[in-house]
Amino acid sequence: MKITILTQFPEMFPGVLEASMLGRAQQGGLLEIKTVNIRDYTKDKHRRTDDAPFGGGAGMVMSPQPAFDALRACGAEGKRIIYMSPRGRLLDQELAQELAAEEEFFVLCGHYEGIDERIIEAWNMEEVSIGDYVLTGGELAAMVMIDCACRFVPGVLGSEVSLEEESIYSGLLEYPHYTKPRNFEGYEVPQVLVEGNHKLIRLWQFEQALRITARRRPDMLAAFLESPRKFSKDEKKIIDEILRETQGIEAEKQR
Ligand code: SAM
Repeated sequence: MKITILTQFPEMFPGVLEASMLGRAQQGGLLEIKTVNIRDYTKDKHRRTDDAPFGGGAGMVMSPQPAFDALRACGAEGKRIIYMSPRGRLLDQELAQELAAEEEFFVLCGHYEGIDERIIEAWNMEEVSIGDYVLTGGELAAMVMIDCACRFVPGVLGSEVSLEEESIYSGLLEYPHYTKPRNFEGYEVPQVLVEGNHKLIRLWQFEQALRITARRRPDMLAAFLESPRKFSKDEKKIIDEILRETQGIEAEKQR
């Protein structure tokens, strides 16, 4: 997969995108992440890429000329282009998987007050937000989105199985993990995990995932239980027990 990031601050890259699994995936040729400096395309004699907004107001707005020329020079015509923006579609696993299936896409990072609307319109850009808060620039947001999408590119992660069991991807928040030693300063690893009964381990993990989701994200639990997934008899028993407990707590709160 090939990703081109257009930014006024190329020195912020590759940053996290070069480390760990994404770094290895680039070395192995699975990913190609390139940065384009929008400033290199400005025709302004002072190398400016932005200007004051029409209509007044604080801040500066990215001018169309450098962005248009940078997009043309890197061959973005007719391609999927994402503008990182707090107004955009919220990034989630579904969008990350959708991007991971692309052979190539482009990402434009805004700064200051944002970008001239004509850049978005003329280049048919999709706006993507990483959350309901405002960052100073689109660079961090682009890194978050790219990191999240690249994990779905086959071969980027060591094991595809671990991806399916992760929080949210499985429809639940993930169960807790433990590693050696079995006893650390008096804190024990749950007994079931060291006894080697894989069926019981899977049920314990399922129960923990349900419990943590019921406590922290009841909306997610409700969606999970409504999904067409088939549950075993043992799983159903665990679900019923947790639902009885949560309904008991709710009734208690209302008294
Ligand atoms: N004036 C803009 C508004 O109210 O929507 C905010 C501009 S923000 C200070 C500067 C740039 O940061 C934006 O152009 C965008 O590229 C990026 N940005 C800020 N928050 C973001 C978010 N939650 N998700 C994605 N990009 C964001």
